[in-house]
Amino acid sequence: MWTQLVSTLLAATLVFTPVTLIEDDNVYTHGSREERTIALTFDDGPHPTYTDRILDVLEKHNVKATFFAVGVNAENYPAPLLRAYEEGHEIGNHTYNHKSMRTMSYEDMLREVTDTAKRIYDLTDYGVNLIRPPQGAMSAQFLSLAEELGYRIVLWDVDTRDWAHEPVDKMVKNIMESTDNGDIILFHDYHPSVANTIKTLDIIIPALQEQGFRFVTVSELLS
Ligand SMILES: [Zn+2]
Repeated sequence: MWTQLVSTLLAATLVFTPVTLIEDDNVYTHGSREERTIALTFDDGPHPTYTDRILDVLEKHNVKATFFAVGVNAENYPAPLLRAYEEGHEIGNHTYNHKSMRTMSYEDMLREVTDTAKRIYDLTDYGVNLIRPPQGAMSAQFLSLAEELGYRIVLWDVDTRDWAHEPVDKMVKNIMESTDNGDIILFHDYHPSVANTIKTLDIIIPALQEQGFRFVTVSELLS
């Protein structure tokens, strides 16, 4: 089925047009501003130890999040991804090798996306339908490909900068000052700053709940 899908889509290859600023109905940086809901997202895992530590803190606070998985990591470390899925978190596609989708050929992008979806499906029986291109970078061809495969493209509007080893107090301040209804918050579960990420989550989850925010998966946020 996958092979069939890949060849059908390869036949539809379009002329490559790079796009830097993407404004498209299928690209989401937030959900409804009317609802007091927000979505935590974690990119680049699963990681053999970090992902479980993140899952532990989410479990402690009983909140669901969305994990944008990298295919090769799902191949190497399936257990934490399966755990995330079984505990009710949503899984999204973050491509197989985490390379830029801005300059890649259609054929290579298709392989990156479908190989990751297949890996997630083999592991969980779940047909993934959210995608986040690495660094949020994409071309017009990527937009077409996502649409043809039935994906919603999910970016973010609060960047915690955990990837830049931001200290806990700065991350907390940034999140508490900028989080608004419908926000999608970007974290990483495959980064050595995981200890700071966990401390930050431990502070911001109860603090935002106190302000009336409810944590939901990205699909729930966008529904
Ligand atoms: Zn990433």
